[in-house]
Amino acid sequence: MNWKDCCGKGSQNEENEDFEVVKIEKSKGNCKLCDDYAEGQKSKPVAVLSCEGACLRGEVARRAANILCHSLARDKTARICLGGAFTKDTGQRALVANAERVVAFEGCYVNCASRMMKGVVTKLAPEVIAVDRLYDFDRNLFGLDEMPSEEIEAHARTVAEKVAATL
Ligand code: SF4
Repeated sequence: MNWKDCCGKGSQNEENEDFEVVKIEKSKGNCKLCDDYAEGQKSKPVAVLSCEGACLRGEVARRAANILCHSLARDKTARICLGGAFTKDTGQRALVANAERVVAFEGCYVNCASRMMKGVVTKLAPEVIAVDRLYDFDRNLFGLDEMPSEEIEAHARTVAEKVAATL
């Protein structure tokens, strides 16, 4: 029996194999508009992340998160700026850390948004939405330019409506 099976914890070396340590240059400036936005969103119970994939799957995820937060569930959800929350310990990150519920729209199983935020908000346990499992499409497609924008929007709305029904 592998000793790891006994206690559920790997050795230090094994644990390190599961993580990549990155060094992020601190921002030398903050965006007042972004800080004001974060301040205004503090009372909302659900923080919504999305991966920022430049591919078709990421685009559907991003648009779905936007439809949810800016149209279907404006009063309940705060749309998080993923890059700002990940790279700066300011208002956007606090929205994630303090939300009653964190929902992460992921374009694909790589789960970039939730993995990133778990790196800077300890004990974060986001609800991961596997967006590409919530709409039907040709899974051989990859590029954003391989599907008409109107069709991308329709898939995003389908996903947003499914998630909105769970809030
Ligand atoms: S989750 Fe998938 S689609 Fe989104 S950024 Fe990561 S690799 Fe790209």
